[in-house]
Amino acid sequence: MDFKTDIRYLKGVGEKRAELFNQLGVKSVGALLQLYPRDYRIMTPKKLEETEFDVPAAVKATIISPIKQVYIRKNMVLYKFIATDGEEDMAVTIFNNKYVAESLKFGGEYLFYGKVIRNLIGCEMSAPEIYPVGTEDIIPVYPQTSGLTSKAISRVIKIALENCDIEETLSDEIKGKYNLCDIKTALHNIHCPKDKQSIDIARRRLVFEELFYLQTGILFQKSSRTKTTNVKINGNCIREFAANLPFTLTDAQKNAINDAIRDMRSNKPMSRLVQGDVGSGKTMVAAALAFAAAKEGYQSVIMAPTEVLAVQHFTTFQNTMQNSGIRLGLLVGSMTKTAKNKLKTAIENGEIDILIGTHAVLEDDVKFKSLGLVVTDEQHRFGVEQRTVLSSKGNNPHMLVMSATPIPRTMSLIFYGDLDISIIDSLPSGRQPIETYLIDSDKRDRAFTFIKNHLDSGRQAYIVCPAVEENEAIDIKAATEYYETVKDGAFSGYSVGLLHGKMRPKEKDKVMTEFKNGDIRLLISTTVIEVGVDVPNAVIMMIENAERFGLSQLHQLRGRIGRGKYKSTCILLSDFKSGETAARLKFLTKTVDGFKIADEDLRLRGPGDFLGKRQHGLPELKIADLSCDMLLFREAGAAAKELYNSDPLLKDSKNLAILKEMQKLFKTAKNYGYN
Ligand code: ADP
Ligand code: MG
Repeated sequence: MDFKTDIRYLKGVGEKRAELFNQLGVKSVGALLQLYPRDYRIMTPKKLEETEFDVPAAVKATIISPIKQVYIRKNMVLYKFIATDGEEDMAVTIFNNKYVAESLKFGGEYLFYGKVIRNLIGCEMSAPEIYPVGTEDIIPVYPQTSGLTSKAISRVIKIALENCDIEETLSDEIKGKYNLCDIKTALHNIHCPKDKQSIDIARRRLVFEELFYLQTGILFQKSSRTKTTNVKINGNCIREFAANLPFTLTDAQKNAINDAIRDMRSNKPMSRLVQGDVGSGKTMVAAALAFAAAKEGYQSVIMAPTEVLAVQHFTTFQNTMQNSGIRLGLLVGSMTKTAKNKLKTAIENGEIDILIGTHAVLEDDVKFKSLGLVVTDEQHRFGVEQRTVLSSKGNNPHMLVMSATPIPRTMSLIFYGDLDISIIDSLPSGRQPIETYLIDSDKRDRAFTFIKNHLDSGRQAYIVCPAVEENEAIDIKAATEYYETVKDGAFSGYSVGLLHGKMRPKEKDKVMTEFKNGDIRLLISTTVIEVGVDVPNAVIMMIENAERFGLSQLHQLRGRIGRGKYKSTCILLSDFKSGETAARLKFLTKTVDGFKIADEDLRLRGPGDFLGKRQHGLPELKIADLSCDMLLFREAGAAAKELYNSDPLLKDSKNLAILKEMQKLFKTAKNYGYN
């Protein structure tokens, strides 16, 4: 049998078991062998005296009392007995497990695995797992499902290991160079390790392999961008654009613009990501390029994730392109059908040079005359497909993606693997660093006074209300109640506004506009303001129940302030004074560097969470953990590059196994070129 064999044909797996394995996503023997242990149980026996508080351990002990049955209530029996390790005794309790209890013998010696509790009368162990003496020193622990225990999985895997022909996929060259064991050893050791070291050796090989395939796939996908384009934008008029700005572009902005112009002068469509911290001025990069496109006769489209943001961009573009003759259009869901249709006709006739909008721009009947540039802002909120849909409205137009949140380099390679990257690593000059404080909620009144002082001196402020749960309706209620309370309480006499996601777009716009032009001084909001909103006069961001937000999200919220010439303050309210949560929040008070924060966020939350549930079209990682396997990630990346340089089309027969693996792994990924 081989990797493709159905697990049903394994000894010990019938229809019923196979069904249970299917629930774990395992259908073939190969998938079974890639069902890696979640953890390992160290079974090296310890004396009772050596066990630590709250740490499970295996104790080798002999049963020295009869096994007593205690009936607690109907259907609930306890089995109690005493066992000794030769020096000390412990009282063992088994709950309701007749099968286990009856298999034990008075005078028999066993390994009892569990937490030892020490109290006045001696040692106790409740509900231990019981193994025969002579059990392996390390036992794998598998992700289980009801009806399928870790032990049962382990047993089946052992049978598979014995019967399956395991084919090597990595060349001797790679294995030698990167010090990797062969696949057979790796699979054997990961499932039946004899010691800690053999797990490490196995893991190294398996993690490397997984990350190697991943990066090879990404690399080959990038190089398969063979499309050419007739859209050429040479960007000679960018100077004219820059001359009309009220500030000078930062060097980082100029570099990003230059990178993009270089791409757009070539005959291949640009696919570029601009990564920059919040407030670094990414919008200007998009504006400069769209300006250049328009001056050279091409249309551009800018897609933003929210209506508030689309409107903001529209206004920014209007301001920066006054008297340039460039015709702007705004397309958002809340417009009337008549207005939309009129605009769509204008776009199709080429009477609009730059279209700014929300998802509405994706609709089928939005057609362009000569689309040359596609920009998506805050891309992490959009799926890969949406990018493709937008591009397909032109004839291989150039594409620019702006990412809202800085993300760790590994993540951007994976998430945006098919894109070239420009990083905006500095903020416009003249910004004052934001100060961040973490305070208890009983200091809220003081914080209110602090806010009032700033409102009195002409500034504005935000208060973000608790994200109560994953339920927008409840969040909105919380924000609404908060608003009602402070409007007539702490902030009576001030102009207070409310913003949340369920307001009609028109209402939202009204509130945002009033906040922007200063009619509203204090804005109570849910996280809808998280994305991109820009009001330089707002200098305070207070966040209630800060512990409920992720680091990157808090950083993003904080990015709403510190955008002008005034000193800004971020106040995090939380009653979590210790532990991991407090540490996480304290981290934010110490740095404003979005890239550092992203790294920390990745370390704390792990990559799964980080990427969110969004389909990124890449194979799922089964063993690698991107928050701790960074070194291996780099090594595997180097190996992938070497492979690419030596055999860019994977034509060499010695790379056949890799090619096959690529086809297997990436076939479900729509956007990969291996179909
Ligand atoms: P983000 O990168 O978060 O999208 P924005 O593009 O919204 O940032 O820009 C943040 C603020 O910085 C805006 O008010 C914008 O007008 C201003 N800004 C952009 N570039 C510069 C610059 N070179 N000098 C001064 N201010 C700038
Ligand atoms: Mg932005």
